[in-house]
Amino acid sequence: MTDFLVIGGGIMGMLSSYALTQKGYSVQLLESQQCGREASWAGGGIVSPLNPWNYPASISRLTQFSQQLYPDLVNQLTDQTGIDPELYSTGMLTCQPAIEGGSNSSTIDQAVDWANQYDIELEILDQYAIGQLQPDLTSAISQGLWMPAVSNIRNPRLLKALKKAISQEPLISIQENCPVVELLLEGEKVQGAATKAGNFYAGNTLVTSGAWSQQLLGKAAAERSIWPIRGQMLLYKPGPKLLNTIVLSGNQYLIPRKDGHILVGSTLEDVGFDNTTTEQAYVELKAFAESMLPALADYPVIQQWAGLRPASPDGIPHIGPVANYENLFINAGHFRNGVVLAPGSVQVLIEQMLGEPTSLDCTAYQSISR
Ligand SMILES: Cc1cc2nc3c(=O)[nH]c(=O)nc-3n(C[C@H](O)[C@H](O)[C@H](O)COP(=O)(O)OP(=O)(O)OC[C@H]3O[C@@H](n4cnc5c(N)ncnc54)[C@H](O)[C@@H]3O)c2cc1C
Repeated sequence: MTDFLVIGGGIMGMLSSYALTQKGYSVQLLESQQCGREASWAGGGIVSPLNPWNYPASISRLTQFSQQLYPDLVNQLTDQTGIDPELYSTGMLTCQPAIEGGSNSSTIDQAVDWANQYDIELEILDQYAIGQLQPDLTSAISQGLWMPAVSNIRNPRLLKALKKAISQEPLISIQENCPVVELLLEGEKVQGAATKAGNFYAGNTLVTSGAWSQQLLGKAAAERSIWPIRGQMLLYKPGPKLLNTIVLSGNQYLIPRKDGHILVGSTLEDVGFDNTTTEQAYVELKAFAESMLPALADYPVIQQWAGLRPASPDGIPHIGPVANYENLFINAGHFRNGVVLAPGSVQVLIEQMLGEPTSLDCTAYQSISR
């Protein structure tokens, strides 16, 4: 019998499958549509939470752990598949709202305390220093918090590399266009999952179905453990390279890719499972982009898209066993941070599934288990 049934082929499902086979376990991966086309594809790929000082310790610890795992993962996937996910160390500048007339000293104190606590490089930049760092940015930014060590990754390429790596792996069978209709629950055990193509059985079942995970778990999860929050993005490809760093202002940001593309994000919309794009988001994001980087007004938006983030209470993901079932596990609910948190989440998930000591205290990620 297959060792693990993995339901959902986003970053969590593919990376979990990859890691399991590296330990010698067999995996059956089931995906509703095509692997790597939902939130994990739609995301911006910032390898850090936005305003990371606003998060609880459980997220800061997991972030730091995960960030450290990224370079080796990217090198391994690039060597194995020839696809480079382009981990790009750009730093991240968080503009402070002094330009809007408010006092920001408490945010700065909070950020500095957080950086000291986690030994993270963070500088307070004034208007002149921001101009030196990023000459094409609007001169209206009077103060910013600069984290030089933050990277971004080209998440669609990361997914492409992961898919190629797992497709080459003899221990993994991938079934796409195969939505799981329900879990086959029997007493305290899960036998597997039912699909229109038949039932799939395995020793253990892992739910990595992103925003759809709650639907699948049904009564095995408390209400509103995971729900969809839509995010929309725009893409520019200006001729000259206009941006070198990630720039965040409020909830919106600009992300530079290595080849000069600039991504603009994002919206936070509670609209259920609707992942269509809207004119309103287009207008808002375009106005934001051009206010921050005026030269962008000379270039067209070349793409707009939307994705459904798997939101969870306080944005804390569910990673570990599902309560009352001895062989049912979850790795979902990473909300705005699933790309940065993926390598660390998968590692502590697998440690829990295999009954090994965990690299971090996982209590905070086990709310579905309690
Ligand atoms: C606009 C936007 C910007 C973002 N920016 C960032 C960022 O900069 N940095 C960051 O760290 N994170 C970011 N995120 C968040 C991040 O993308 C998500 O947290 C992460 O991708 C979630 O991964 P996942 O594998 O859990 O979900 P998904 O990628 O959604 O994968 C779940 C998969 O499960 C499949 N599935 C669902 N139901 C079933 C079923 N019944 N049977 C079989 N398969 C099923 C789906 O088809 C899907 O492929 C962003 C998200 C969005 C939308």
